[in-house]
Amino acid sequence: MLCEIVAVGTELLLGQIVDTNSAWIGEQLALSGIDCHRHTAVGDNRERMMAAFCEALDRADAVIVTGGLGPTQDDITREVVAELMGVTMERDQELVDRIEARFAGRGRKMPANNLRQADVPVGATTMSELPGTAPGLICPVGDKVLYTVPGVPWEMKEMLEGSILPDLRRRAGAVSVIGSRTLRTWGQSESGLAEMLADEIDRLDLEGGSTLAFLASGMEGLKVRITAKAATSVEVEAILDDEEARVRGVIGPIVFGMDGANMESVVLDELVAQGLTLATAESLTGGLIGSRLTDVPGSSRAFRGSVVAYAGDVKRQLLGVPEGPVVSEEAVSAMATGVCRVLGADVSVAVTGVAGPGPQDGQEPGTVWMATCVDGEVEAVRVLFPFDRVRTRQFTVISVLNLLRLRLEARRGG
Ligand code: ATP
Ligand code: MG
Repeated sequence: MLCEIVAVGTELLLGQIVDTNSAWIGEQLALSGIDCHRHTAVGDNRERMMAAFCEALDRADAVIVTGGLGPTQDDITREVVAELMGVTMERDQELVDRIEARFAGRGRKMPANNLRQADVPVGATTMSELPGTAPGLICPVGDKVLYTVPGVPWEMKEMLEGSILPDLRRRAGAVSVIGSRTLRTWGQSESGLAEMLADEIDRLDLEGGSTLAFLASGMEGLKVRITAKAATSVEVEAILDDEEARVRGVIGPIVFGMDGANMESVVLDELVAQGLTLATAESLTGGLIGSRLTDVPGSSRAFRGSVVAYAGDVKRQLLGVPEGPVVSEEAVSAMATGVCRVLGADVSVAVTGVAGPGPQDGQEPGTVWMATCVDGEVEAVRVLFPFDRVRTRQFTVISVLNLLRLRLEARRGG
């Protein structure tokens, strides 16, 4: 089963919005074992849309079109598809009622424009989901199929999961189940990981069973996704268990969590499990560490607070940093012990550095000192990030939390 994606919208071509829909759909198709060889973006123009849809249908068994289903005159996906199918459009009274009900639910009257959204090409089926006012359509074209979904990402996602993927699987005569698991890592580059796992990748190429994919995700770390296909979900889980154990055997120490768990949530869980509270002393991150930690629901169980000590005299007066350079081992260590004392926390992390773009106190941009304080003992490290200001700050957040994670795990183990 070969499927293509066509994203409709002149804004996409002008770079005013980024085509995250195609990226997400691509990922879902891959997870479902459906091949996708091409993504196309096309403006809101009748001829060019028609050409894009026809070319995609020539190459593939199925085409997913996102965007251009709205109520305004520039939303013409419906009309183009009807023309392509060689049929007229008919107003679907049931859809009129459903769209009207949507408006009524929000205490508003339906504008006449929205009636256009109830016009369906003859022969097309309406998807059961209606999260907004634009219905998704399943349009048979010969022995092939074209799906249209709205451009609004959350509406599109609901229809892809609820209607399109099940329909594609049915058409593909899928009898197999696909599952995946993601190991979240921090501390290696993508090529470094690929090198470490080269033997395992070779083995999988020969013996099959599952596949490995790497996904660099910035400050979310590097993800290693294991995907397996089998007749039943029990078998899929068994294959995933086996492969996870093999992968962990090689890269175990840099795996910090699974699937949706991020570094912040992993650290907070570990703190709660050990009955410890955390404080942060932040200079170059300006509160980012505290912000990331408090993104996690329930972070108050362990997180006491942050001291954003940006100016040198704030570091000295509030946290007891000694006279001398503030991007140094002495300074970051004093910040770590100082913030435990000031905020009454059991453990802490502290960071100070040069975010850039220029040097500071004779230190290169990207120079960062990080410290963790656990059981009154401070450990400090210096790193040099070769990045711009934004990434230096972001990578500092996840790096220092990772240092704390490693110490907490060692503490539990020992
Ligand atoms: P609407 O009923 O909102 O008009 P529509 O199906 O006509 O829905 P568009 O008008 O193409 O969809 O897009 C609506 C909004 O959805 C855009 O403003 C944009 O925010 C988002 N969007 C559209 N296409 C994409 C895409 N390919 N990737 C990410 N977001 C998109
Ligand atoms: Mg629109």
